[in-house]
This record gives sequence, structure tokens and C-alpha cells, in this order.
Amino acid sequence: GWRSRAAFKLIELDDRFQLIKPGMRVVDLGAAPGGWTQVALKRGAACVAGVDLLPVEPVPGAEIIEGDFTDPAMADRLIELLDGKADLVLSDMAPNTTGHTATDHIRIIGLAEEALDFSFDILAEGGGFVAKVFQGGAEQSLLTTLKQAFTQVRHAKPPASRKDSCELYVIATGFRPERLPPRS
Ligand code: SAM
Repeated sequence: GWRSRAAFKLIELDDRFQLIKPGMRVVDLGAAPGGWTQVALKRGAACVAGVDLLPVEPVPGAEIIEGDFTDPAMADRLIELLDGKADLVLSDMAPNTTGHTATDHIRIIGLAEEALDFSFDILAEGGGFVAKVFQGGAEQSLLTTLKQAFTQVRHAKPPASRKDSCELYVIATGFRPERLPPRS
């Protein structure tokens, strides 16, 4: 069985957008308890490298590091585990909510921006990026960067996502690293 209810969200996103293709190298940011990692492997990923602040019971076929994805050494560690750059970066990360909607919104977009920045270090050309965001206005700069760096950017709310939550996923495909501004 799946380790999380969240697994169904990735199943639905993948049914709709065909994100996971056989042989892919996949990165799972915020992997605990491991549902998305299970789905990625079940759908043909060759390997999954994940990271979470929380420990994760081993998933055969995956390597999950207990740590913070913003750790400066993390991108290199994941690339090493995958034995190459990733074809798909998944982020189901969410910060702890404060109950204050505007604050929560800013924090989740901040996390998605960090995940995107991280993916620029780890994605192979043509790769894809999926991240949890919230419905609301403040993600314009995130969208601008996504549209620059990927050929296609879409939003989706999978049916398994609670209707009363503002949670939404951004799905970006066709990473084109040459379109990124020079980075320091
Ligand atoms: N997709 C997972 C599944 O199907 O099992 C569920 C992920 S859960 C909704 C979000 C996870 O993000 C939490 O386990 C949390 O610890 C993790 N997380 C949040 N911030 C993080 C960070 N800075 N680095 C690593 N993991 C983080």
C-alpha cells in the first residue's frame, strides 16, 4: 500500500500530465513518509533520491537523506546518489502553517522558489519540475522564472487534494538551462 494519502495526488498528476517515464532519475524533496517516492518507482523511475527533515523508512530502489534540502551540499549529494542529473524534481514540501493565511502563503511560495532554485542545479536539460504552491496572488515572480526556464508551465489541483485547501501544484516541463540568467 501507499504510505501516504498524498500518493494519490501524484498518481492523479501523473495520469494527467505523464510526468514519470520509464528509466527516469527522480528527486523527491520533502519525501517523508515516502508515498511520492513509491509512486515514482512504481511508475518506472530508474531511481529516486529524496530528502526530508524527518527520517523515512527505507524504500527499496530509493535513497532518502535525512536533512534540509537547503543545505548547500545537498544538490551534489543527490546527484551522486542518482549517478547523474535528475529528469524530474518533485516537491510536495510545505512549511508548518501558522494559521495566518497571508503568512502561510508567503512561506509556501518562498519554499517553492527555493525548490525551483535548487532544481536549476540538479535538473538535466529537458527535465521537469513539480511543486506545491497555494492559490493566491504572490507567486508572480515564481511564475515568471518558471516560464523563462521551462517550455511549458501549468497549474493543477488533483482531485485527491482537499477541496477546502488552497493547495495547488505547478507543473513545469522542458527545462532549458540556456534561458536562465547567469548565476553567481
Ligand atoms: N509527498 C510525501 C508523501 O507522499 O509521502 C508527503 C510530503 S509532506 C506533505 C511534506 C514534507 O516536507 C514533510 O515531511 C516535511 O518534513 C518536508 N519538508 C519541509 N521543509 C523541508 C526542508 N527544508 N527540507 C526537507 N524537507 C522539508
